[in-house]
Amino acid sequence: MTRAARVELHTHLEGSVTPDRLILLAEKYGQPGLPAACLTEDGTAYRFKGFHGFLELFKHVTSLLRTPADFHAAARDLGGRLVADGIGYAEVTLSYGVLLMRGIDPLSVQKALAEAAVEAEEADGVVLRWIPDAVRQWGVDKAWRAWEAAATAGRDLGVVGFGLGGDETAGPPADFAGLFTEVKTEGYGVTIHAGEIPGMGAAAVDSIRQAVEDCCADRIGHGLAAADDPLLLATMAARGVFVEMCPGSNLATGGITAWGDHPLRKFLAAGDPCCLNTDDRALFDLDLDGEYIRAEALLALTGAEHDGMQKAARKAAFCASS
Ligand SMILES: [Zn+2]
Repeated sequence: MTRAARVELHTHLEGSVTPDRLILLAEKYGQPGLPAACLTEDGTAYRFKGFHGFLELFKHVTSLLRTPADFHAAARDLGGRLVADGIGYAEVTLSYGVLLMRGIDPLSVQKALAEAAVEAEEADGVVLRWIPDAVRQWGVDKAWRAWEAAATAGRDLGVVGFGLGGDETAGPPADFAGLFTEVKTEGYGVTIHAGEIPGMGAAAVDSIRQAVEDCCADRIGHGLAAADDPLLLATMAARGVFVEMCPGSNLATGGITAWGDHPLRKFLAAGDPCCLNTDDRALFDLDLDGEYIRAEALLALTGAEHDGMQKAARKAAFCASS
């Protein structure tokens, strides 16, 4: 498989906002303090500490995405970076939960993203599709509002799935089982961030199990905590649940303490379909090529395994045209 054919399934639009774009947006909205709060001294990279520090940073960045034009610009930036990273198809997550909380109309934003996707495909040759998601710690009712907005935007505007993100320590997937049953009934893909914080112990494993069994997730974001539960790994393999792995992100937020500690090999050994992803490529200063190179160097990922992961990713994509 050629490098240009790579697929990325777990990448957040908000997490792709470059330091340069952040500086421009902060200027536009008269928030001169934000770049200093979010960026390194030279303004070329983001800085934060731990998972909750990351959520704070995410909040700062999203506070500057306000108009459809802002989202359009961010999407075009991302398209360019994906192409430079050798990616031909990406499913990009956007938090509709945050949009609604901030009083921003998701439909206007989604129209701008759909336009950006058309432009990116024509200009850069990269296909962008969209996965709106809900914020788990804000509860089930707000998640339903986010889903209703996603369904309204629909396939015509490039929506291919619906997800659940946010603070995994607050908001077990089982609470959202009815919502995801509806998402599946409507024919959209389901992806749920789960098992991202192994420090949660048994609750992290439960989080994955609930996402798989109660919410019928097609894909799990991260899934780290399943690594030490052979039965759960076997269950996921049997059901064909795909794992969107994000080792660089896990290292940045403290889910693992060294890149080479990522349990990727346990998933491969169990036969779980999976691929690598950047998660928040600008916030973590990552690219997908670098992630695969590190997997080859630090986890002995073979060329055949790499090709197998990309083949699995194409199969797990929610859009048939990938
Ligand atoms: Zn994520």
